Amino acid sequence: MSELDPCQVVTKDIQNDASPDDILALLTAGNQRFRYNNMASRKHSDDVVATAGGQAPLAVVLACMDSRVGPEVIFDAGVGDIFSIRVAGNIVSSEALGSMEYGCGVAGSKVVIVIGHTRCGAVNATIDLMGKDAVGETGLGNIASVTGPIGRAVEQETSESDDRSSQNEDFSIRVTELNVLQTIKDIREKSSVIDKLASGDDFKIVGAVYDVRNGEVRFL
Ligand SMILES: [Zn+2]
Repeated sequence: MSELDPCQVVTKDIQNDASPDDILALLTAGNQRFRYNNMASRKHSDDVVATAGGQAPLAVVLACMDSRVGPEVIFDAGVGDIFSIRVAGNIVSSEALGSMEYGCGVAGSKVVIVIGHTRCGAVNATIDLMGKDAVGETGLGNIASVTGPIGRAVEQETSESDDRSSQNEDFSIRVTELNVLQTIKDIREKSSVIDKLASGDDFKIVGAVYDVRNGEVRFL
Protein backbone atom coordinates (compact mmCIF):
# COMPACT_ATOMS: atom_id res chain seq x y z
CA MET A 1 0.00 0.00 0.00
CA SER A 2 1.39 3.34 -1.02
CA GLU A 3 0.16 6.67 0.20
CA LEU A 4 -1.17 8.93 -2.52
CA ASP A 5 -0.27 12.62 -2.47
CA PRO A 6 -3.49 14.68 -2.58
CA CYS A 7 -1.73 17.54 -4.35
CA GLN A 8 -0.26 15.37 -7.10
CA VAL A 9 -2.33 15.42 -10.29
CA VAL A 10 -3.35 11.85 -11.09
CA THR A 11 -1.50 10.39 -14.06
CA LYS A 12 -2.15 7.07 -15.79
CA ASP A 13 0.87 5.59 -13.97
CA ILE A 14 -0.46 6.72 -10.59
CA GLN A 15 -3.90 5.33 -11.44
CA ASN A 16 -2.36 2.00 -12.51
CA ASP A 17 -0.25 1.67 -9.38
CA ALA A 18 -2.93 2.70 -6.86
CA SER A 19 -4.93 -0.07 -5.23
CA PRO A 20 -8.62 0.41 -4.37
CA ASP A 21 -7.60 0.60 -0.70
CA ASP A 22 -5.01 3.29 -1.50
CA ILE A 23 -7.76 5.29 -3.20
CA LEU A 24 -10.21 4.86 -0.34
CA ALA A 25 -7.48 5.90 2.11
CA LEU A 26 -6.82 9.03 0.04
CA LEU A 27 -10.50 9.97 0.00
CA THR A 28 -10.92 9.21 3.70
CA ALA A 29 -7.96 11.45 4.50
CA GLY A 30 -9.48 14.11 2.23
CA ASN A 31 -12.73 13.99 4.18
CA GLN A 32 -10.76 14.45 7.40
CA ARG A 33 -9.04 17.53 5.94
CA PHE A 34 -12.43 18.89 4.85
CA ARG A 35 -13.94 18.35 8.29
CA TYR A 36 -11.14 20.08 10.13
CA ASN A 37 -10.47 23.00 7.74
CA ASN A 38 -7.14 21.61 6.67
CA MET A 39 -7.68 21.47 2.91
CA ALA A 40 -4.75 20.50 0.70
CA SER A 41 -2.94 23.48 -0.76
CA ARG A 42 -3.42 23.24 -4.51
CA LYS A 43 -2.53 25.44 -7.43
CA HIS A 44 -5.63 24.89 -9.53
CA SER A 45 -4.27 26.76 -12.53
CA ASP A 46 -1.26 24.40 -12.61
CA ASP A 47 -3.56 21.39 -12.24
CA VAL A 48 -5.71 22.62 -15.12
CA VAL A 49 -2.64 22.77 -17.35
CA ALA A 50 -1.41 19.38 -16.14
CA THR A 51 -4.74 17.70 -16.92
CA ALA A 52 -5.47 19.45 -20.21
CA GLY A 53 -4.11 16.54 -22.21
CA GLY A 54 -6.17 13.87 -20.50
CA GLN A 55 -7.49 12.47 -17.26
CA ALA A 56 -7.03 9.31 -15.19
CA PRO A 57 -9.51 9.67 -12.32
CA LEU A 58 -9.19 7.31 -9.39
CA ALA A 59 -12.86 6.90 -8.52
CA VAL A 60 -16.42 7.31 -9.74
CA VAL A 61 -18.67 8.86 -7.12
CA LEU A 62 -22.45 8.62 -7.43
CA ALA A 63 -23.89 11.24 -5.09
CA CYS A 64 -27.10 13.15 -4.46
CA MET A 65 -27.61 16.55 -6.12
CA ASP A 66 -27.87 18.13 -2.64
CA SER A 67 -25.84 21.34 -2.51
CA ARG A 68 -24.07 20.22 0.66
CA VAL A 69 -22.58 16.99 -0.65
CA GLY A 70 -20.40 17.89 -3.64
CA PRO A 71 -17.93 14.97 -3.86
CA GLU A 72 -14.89 17.08 -4.77
CA VAL A 73 -15.58 19.29 -1.75
CA ILE A 74 -16.31 16.68 0.92
CA PHE A 75 -13.36 14.52 -0.17
CA ASP A 76 -11.06 17.51 -0.70
CA ALA A 77 -10.29 16.22 -4.19
CA GLY A 78 -8.57 18.11 -6.96
CA VAL A 79 -8.92 18.64 -10.71
CA GLY A 80 -8.90 15.27 -12.48
CA ASP A 81 -9.25 13.15 -9.33
CA ILE A 82 -12.80 11.81 -9.52
CA PHE A 83 -15.74 11.35 -11.86
CA SER A 84 -18.89 12.77 -10.29
CA ILE A 85 -22.36 11.54 -11.17
CA ARG A 86 -25.11 13.35 -9.31
CA VAL A 87 -28.84 12.88 -9.16
CA ALA A 88 -31.44 13.36 -6.42
CA GLY A 89 -31.33 10.41 -4.05
CA ASN A 90 -28.17 8.90 -5.63
CA ILE A 91 -30.18 6.38 -7.59
CA VAL A 92 -28.82 4.81 -10.75
CA SER A 93 -30.33 5.49 -14.17
CA SER A 94 -29.22 3.93 -17.43
CA GLU A 95 -27.44 7.21 -18.22
CA ALA A 96 -25.57 7.03 -14.92
CA LEU A 97 -24.69 3.40 -15.55
CA GLY A 98 -23.33 4.19 -19.00
CA SER A 99 -21.24 6.98 -17.48
CA MET A 100 -19.97 4.65 -14.76
CA GLU A 101 -19.10 1.95 -17.27
CA TYR A 102 -17.03 4.47 -19.22
CA GLY A 103 -15.34 5.77 -16.07
CA CYS A 104 -14.33 2.30 -14.89
CA GLY A 105 -14.21 0.20 -18.04
CA VAL A 106 -12.45 2.69 -20.31
CA ALA A 107 -10.96 5.49 -18.21
CA GLY A 108 -9.67 3.08 -15.58
CA SER A 109 -11.18 4.21 -12.26
CA LYS A 110 -10.82 1.42 -9.71
CA VAL A 111 -13.35 2.51 -7.10
CA VAL A 112 -17.07 3.28 -7.27
CA ILE A 113 -18.56 5.05 -4.27
CA VAL A 114 -22.31 5.36 -3.92
CA ILE A 115 -22.85 8.02 -1.29
CA GLY A 116 -26.11 9.02 0.34
CA HIS A 117 -26.49 11.61 3.07
CA THR A 118 -28.48 12.42 6.17
CA ARG A 119 -31.47 14.76 5.90
CA CYS A 120 -31.82 13.93 2.19
CA GLY A 121 -34.81 15.74 0.69
CA ALA A 122 -35.33 13.00 -1.90
CA VAL A 123 -35.30 10.24 0.72
CA ASN A 124 -37.50 12.16 3.13
CA ALA A 125 -40.00 13.12 0.41
CA THR A 126 -40.19 9.48 -0.64
CA ILE A 127 -40.80 8.40 2.96
CA ASP A 128 -43.64 10.88 3.34
CA LEU A 129 -45.17 10.11 -0.06
CA MET A 130 -45.34 6.36 0.46
CA GLY A 131 -48.79 5.10 -0.47
CA LYS A 132 -49.71 8.42 -2.04
CA ASP A 133 -49.81 9.71 -5.60
CA ALA A 134 -46.39 11.41 -5.70
CA VAL A 135 -47.10 13.38 -8.87
CA GLY A 136 -50.55 14.49 -7.72
CA GLU A 137 -49.31 15.45 -4.26
CA THR A 138 -46.32 17.47 -5.46
CA GLY A 139 -47.34 18.69 -8.90
CA LEU A 140 -43.94 17.54 -10.16
CA GLY A 141 -44.56 15.52 -13.29
CA ASN A 142 -41.37 13.47 -13.13
CA ILE A 143 -40.94 13.05 -9.38
CA ALA A 144 -41.94 9.38 -9.47
CA SER A 145 -38.74 8.55 -11.37
CA VAL A 146 -36.89 9.54 -8.18
CA THR A 147 -39.32 8.45 -5.47
CA GLY A 148 -40.10 5.11 -7.16
CA PRO A 149 -36.59 3.63 -6.84
CA ILE A 150 -36.07 5.07 -3.33
CA GLY A 151 -39.42 3.62 -2.27
CA ARG A 152 -37.89 0.14 -2.40
CA ALA A 153 -35.54 1.13 0.43
CA VAL A 154 -38.45 2.43 2.50
CA GLU A 155 -40.17 -0.92 2.05
CA GLN A 156 -36.98 -2.76 3.03
CA GLU A 157 -36.83 -0.92 6.36
CA THR A 158 -39.11 -3.11 8.42
CA SER A 159 -37.77 -2.51 11.95
CA GLU A 160 -39.73 0.70 12.52
CA SER A 161 -43.44 0.29 13.07
CA ASP A 162 -44.43 3.36 15.08
CA ASP A 163 -43.11 6.46 13.37
CA ARG A 164 -42.43 5.85 9.70
CA SER A 165 -42.27 9.58 8.85
CA SER A 166 -39.30 11.68 7.79
CA GLN A 167 -39.46 13.35 11.21
CA ASN A 168 -37.98 10.16 12.62
CA GLU A 169 -34.34 10.82 11.81
CA ASP A 170 -33.03 7.38 12.76
CA PHE A 171 -35.58 5.81 10.44
CA SER A 172 -34.63 8.22 7.66
CA ILE A 173 -30.94 7.35 8.08
CA ARG A 174 -31.65 3.62 7.94
CA VAL A 175 -33.66 4.14 4.75
CA THR A 176 -30.76 6.19 3.36
CA GLU A 177 -28.34 3.32 4.06
CA LEU A 178 -30.68 0.79 2.47
CA ASN A 179 -31.09 3.05 -0.54
CA VAL A 180 -27.31 3.15 -1.00
CA LEU A 181 -27.08 -0.64 -0.76
CA GLN A 182 -30.00 -1.04 -3.18
CA THR A 183 -28.28 1.28 -5.66
CA ILE A 184 -25.11 -0.84 -5.47
CA LYS A 185 -27.22 -3.94 -6.09
CA ASP A 186 -28.87 -2.23 -9.06
CA ILE A 187 -25.48 -1.28 -10.50
CA ARG A 188 -24.13 -4.82 -10.27
CA GLU A 189 -27.31 -6.36 -11.65
CA LYS A 190 -27.63 -4.00 -14.58
CA SER A 191 -23.97 -3.67 -15.58
CA SER A 192 -22.00 -6.81 -16.33
CA VAL A 193 -18.92 -4.62 -16.85
CA ILE A 194 -19.05 -3.20 -13.33
CA ASP A 195 -20.09 -6.51 -11.80
CA LYS A 196 -17.15 -8.28 -13.40
CA LEU A 197 -14.71 -5.58 -12.25
CA ALA A 198 -16.18 -5.69 -8.73
CA SER A 199 -15.61 -9.43 -8.58
CA GLY A 200 -11.87 -8.94 -9.12
CA ASP A 201 -9.10 -7.93 -6.72
CA ASP A 202 -8.21 -4.56 -8.24
CA PHE A 203 -11.60 -2.85 -7.95
CA LYS A 204 -14.09 -1.95 -5.22
CA ILE A 205 -17.65 -0.71 -5.14
CA VAL A 206 -18.55 0.70 -1.76
CA GLY A 207 -21.41 2.51 -0.08
CA ALA A 208 -21.17 5.52 2.20
CA VAL A 209 -23.33 8.04 4.01
CA TYR A 210 -22.33 11.68 4.44
CA ASP A 211 -23.61 13.40 7.55
CA VAL A 212 -24.71 16.99 6.84
CA ARG A 213 -24.57 17.67 10.60
CA ASN A 214 -20.82 17.18 10.99
CA GLY A 215 -19.26 16.67 7.56
CA GLU A 216 -18.25 13.06 8.16
CA VAL A 217 -18.27 10.39 5.46
CA ARG A 218 -19.07 7.01 6.99
CA PHE A 219 -18.40 3.99 4.79
CA LEU A 220 -20.97 1.22 5.08
ZN1 LIG B 1 -30.20 14.16 -1.08
